[in-house]
Amino acid sequence: MPTARLPMPAKSETGDPLLLTPGPLTTSKSVKTSMLHDWGSRDATFIRVNKEMRERITEAAGGRGTHTTVPMQGSGTFAVEAMIGSFVPKNGKLLILVNGAYGTRAAKICQYAGRAHQVLETPEDTPPDLAKLEAALKADPAITHVLVVHCETTSGILNPVAEIAAITAKAGRRLLIDSMSAFGALPIDAREVTFDALASSSNKCLEGVPGFGFIVCDLKAIEQAKGNAHSLALDLHDQWKVLETTGQYRFTPPIHAIVALHQAITEFVEEGGVAGRGGRYRQNAKVLIDGMRAMGFETLLPDRLQAPIIVTFHMPRDPKFHFQTFYDRLKDLGYVIYPGKLTVADSFRVGCIGRLSPDHMRGAVETVRAVIADMGVSQLGAKRAA
Ligand SMILES: *Cc1c(COP(=O)(O)O)cnc(C)c1O
Repeated sequence: MPTARLPMPAKSETGDPLLLTPGPLTTSKSVKTSMLHDWGSRDATFIRVNKEMRERITEAAGGRGTHTTVPMQGSGTFAVEAMIGSFVPKNGKLLILVNGAYGTRAAKICQYAGRAHQVLETPEDTPPDLAKLEAALKADPAITHVLVVHCETTSGILNPVAEIAAITAKAGRRLLIDSMSAFGALPIDAREVTFDALASSSNKCLEGVPGFGFIVCDLKAIEQAKGNAHSLALDLHDQWKVLETTGQYRFTPPIHAIVALHQAITEFVEEGGVAGRGGRYRQNAKVLIDGMRAMGFETLLPDRLQAPIIVTFHMPRDPKFHFQTFYDRLKDLGYVIYPGKLTVADSFRVGCIGRLSPDHMRGAVETVRAVIADMGVSQLGAKRAA
């Protein structure tokens, strides 16, 4: 039974609970209303919007003139699978830096696609070991490509992409980046960081709706990728060639999601691009972390490893704390959080991305405080193995 101490439920601009999750996210009303039309896939307006969307993503990656953006239908994983299958040749070998579920998924993609691969793994709260990366590249000349996850959304850890790119380039190998949950909020500039391909999706930091991913590709590398793909639908080279020559997609495009991302990118540019978007997310993360720590919650990661995307908190040790009850009460009060997916610690996660402001985060913290009090939970420190 909710008591009088509990705040009024929070609502998005369209009256929905706020998604404090790593995608799909809370989007602006204008992004949602941009979809209230029908367009044919050969519609001139749609073709222009799609072209502009691709160009503005390339621009945000610092790749104008050197890179191109190729959208791929499906969720983010489809984009990662297309990137791996199209850039790593059938006789290539991918070294994957794993410190969470998305790195592990990249290895699974290699198994399905029949690509040789090696995994260099660190625990979920530990960045990749750069000395081991250097040594592995030196030891195995068969390795052609390296894959790193920019922000590993499993824990929220920020991996040192620029250092990894420098080591990979120095060793004469090619880099693939899963920047799914970071692109648009954390800086990455193709003029400074060398990569063949970088994947992200419509429903992460650019704040569009789900439906497709996109891959920022080095022009020379995508040209060389002809014939690599193991899959027709996921062939990025073919997708790119057809888009460039006809302006159209090979197969039905997710038109509404593309129009929505076009609108979302307009709002992203108005916010000041990566600096503005990343700045708001950093404020969101600070309000959240400071507020939760003040109550006694402990974060999994130290601040120096924490990306301002999603924050992992240890489950409180208080036996009165039941996660499902906590989750359901928060949901009823307008805040949707995310269960943990870690092997190193029993945990839950709270996202800082999407159309959320520091005020929303203050509301979330106050609501957590009220729910915790109402549940009679007092020991909020980490539950640790005895
Ligand atoms: C969200 C995400 C993906 C893609 O997940 P989908 O559920 O397929 O959209 C891939 N990598 C990372 C790091 C992510 O955060």
